[in-house]
Amino acid sequence: MLKERTAAELADALDGMQHHQHNTGGLSMLDEATLEFGWRYPSIGPAQEAFAKARHLHKRSYRTEVGNYSDESWQDAMDAARQLAEALRPLGETRIPRCKERTGWGTCGIGLKDDGTCPATDEHRTTEQ
Ligand SMILES: [Zn+2]
Repeated sequence: MLKERTAAELADALDGMQHHQHNTGGLSMLDEATLEFGWRYPSIGPAQEAFAKARHLHKRSYRTEVGNYSDESWQDAMDAARQLAEALRPLGETRIPRCKERTGWGTCGIGLKDDGTCPATDEHRTTEQ
C-alpha cells in the first residue's frame, strides 16, 4: 500500500510519475499518501500543499473538445511533485505509523498520534458490537 511506504519510496514514486503523463489516479494516491507527512513535518507542508493544488488544477484542466488534460498543467504538477520529492527525501526511511484496527470500511489506516493512539477510535469495529 502506497500509504505504508517510506518518505524515500514516496519521493521515488513522485519522480516516477513523469513517465505516466495525465495519470490523475496516480497523483491522487500520492497526494493522499503524502498528506500526513505535510501535517507532521513543517519542512514538507508547503511543498505538499503546492503539489495537492497543482494536481487538482491538472485534473480540472480536462477539455472535452481536446479529449485530454492540458500538457501545461501536467508539467506544473510534475514541477510540484519534484519539489515535494526533494522535501521528502531527507526523511529517508521515515514512515507514518498507520492504525491497523478494523472499521466499517476495512482497515482504519489513519496515521497514529505521537502517543501511538488512533485519532478515530470511534470508527473502530469491536467484537462486542
Ligand atoms: Zn484507527
